[in-house]
Amino acid sequence: MDKLTAEQRHRNMAAIRSKDTKPELTVRRGLWKRGFRYRLNHKRLPGHPDLVLRKYRTCIFVNGCFWHGHMVGDSLEDSACCRIPSTNREFWEAKIRRNKARDKEEQRRLAEMGWHSITVWECELKPSRREDTLDAIAFTLNHIWLQDHKIETPDSKAQGEDHEEEEDELPIMPIAAERNGDSG
Ligand SMILES: [Zn+2]
Repeated sequence: MDKLTAEQRHRNMAAIRSKDTKPELTVRRGLWKRGFRYRLNHKRLPGHPDLVLRKYRTCIFVNGCFWHGHMVGDSLEDSACCRIPSTNREFWEAKIRRNKARDKEEQRRLAEMGWHSITVWECELKPSRREDTLDAIAFTLNHIWLQDHKIETPDSKAQGEDHEEEEDELPIMPIAAERNGDSG
């Protein structure tokens, strides 16, 4: 009865894929509060980064620890964070390894295009760690900006014909010392 046209289906899939997950919202709010501006789910960039900060030439990926295989410890198998179920273990391991390989390849392609990538893990956004994580991202972004502008030489200037930074003229924010006092 409710048969979807190809276009409707496409839109549905897109809506499901880009659903605002809570960890992603945490990063968005936290960076916004710290003065950073971004775009979301940039379709034309490899891996469809969750946040794109053009001024910083940086893509941010907010990754679930299980699906993207957050390695805490020496190996994926023993990771304290990505706990692979013992049932069908080989299946899950293979799947997660494929995901990791894909993530890596996408970030490699982004790097080739001149983009930095930052990966934020879901476990780093737990209430108790959230503010420190966001401060660290802010620090990294400012560091990237400084690096990118310090190495500007007359040579690199001559080839730089892109003026895409002009839309977000924001001052560099100092790292916010603000805490909202949640102690989860
Ligand atoms: Zn994790």
